[in-house]
Amino acid sequence: MEEKLKIAVQKSGRLHDGSISLLKECGIRIDNGRDQLIAPARDFPVEVLFLRNSDIPQYLEDGVADMAILGENVVIEKQKQVEVVEKLGFSRCRLSLAVPKNTEYTGPEWFKNRKLATSYPNTLEKYLEENNIKAEIHEISGSVEIAPNIGLADGICDLVSSGSTLFKNNLKEVEVMLRSEAALVKGPDLNREKVAIADELLFRLRSVMASRNNKYILLNAPNEKIDDICNVLPGMKSPTIMPLAMEGWSSLHSVISEKDFWAVIGKLKENGAQGILVIPIEKMVV
Ligand code: ATP
Ligand code: MG
Repeated sequence: MEEKLKIAVQKSGRLHDGSISLLKECGIRIDNGRDQLIAPARDFPVEVLFLRNSDIPQYLEDGVADMAILGENVVIEKQKQVEVVEKLGFSRCRLSLAVPKNTEYTGPEWFKNRKLATSYPNTLEKYLEENNIKAEIHEISGSVEIAPNIGLADGICDLVSSGSTLFKNNLKEVEVMLRSEAALVKGPDLNREKVAIADELLFRLRSVMASRNNKYILLNAPNEKIDDICNVLPGMKSPTIMPLAMEGWSSLHSVISEKDFWAVIGKLKENGAQGILVIPIEKMVV
């Protein structure tokens, strides 16, 4: 029988949709995933397993799944034999310490001899140790942010993205312990066939991510301005330059990164670019 790579994704929750759409862009399509534990992909030797996020590191270590899409925060917390292969650029968050809003916070030593509620006991314990702080850790599995208000804890250690959950619960973020994003991770022993499938998957993922981070840009400019404009365009290999029907003018095509976009557009206009078009890239083979 043909070998299949088993990829675990979150069954439901914040990572689910992002994981499924990323796999889909990589050509890995599954039929009605949600109600099943395991779903075979069409046209690619992969099976997708739908699991609780917090259980995935153990399943990877045991070889139940071969790879997974998982928050780095979970990888760090669970301390299993799993390895981050590639960061995936979504579900960005940080693991932070927060205290009631009206606290006069003086620094990490404020936490000495306090009670802290968290779903991340291992990561918190390590942080406290590194900062030479003795504090009491209360492990709870969800809704950590209500702990101070019900008198269960003095502060919390929890994931934060916008900070609105903290705000709603009258808490303020005082220390960032680590930053996290979704990542492709792998378990300890994949056989040769699975490694080959994983390599193909990684190649596709990188192409998808490169295309998400870049735009295709076209513009027109008088020939004497072309050198200045090329100096403004960062990265990639040299742009394509083609003569326009109008004497003395050229069309220039290039790829620019999303993050440089607005800065570059301004400079292009200053340097005489006209008719600028910016187009999303469907796939970018890396
Ligand atoms: P499980 O699947 O085990 O129930 P969970 O309840 O911890 O996991 P979610 O709350 O859906 O799952 O979070 C999944 C992941 O999404 C987190 O581990 C983290 O990597 C990421 N994430 C991003 N932003 C946030 C945020 N503001 N709060 C919580 N998690 C976040
Ligand atoms: Mg949950």
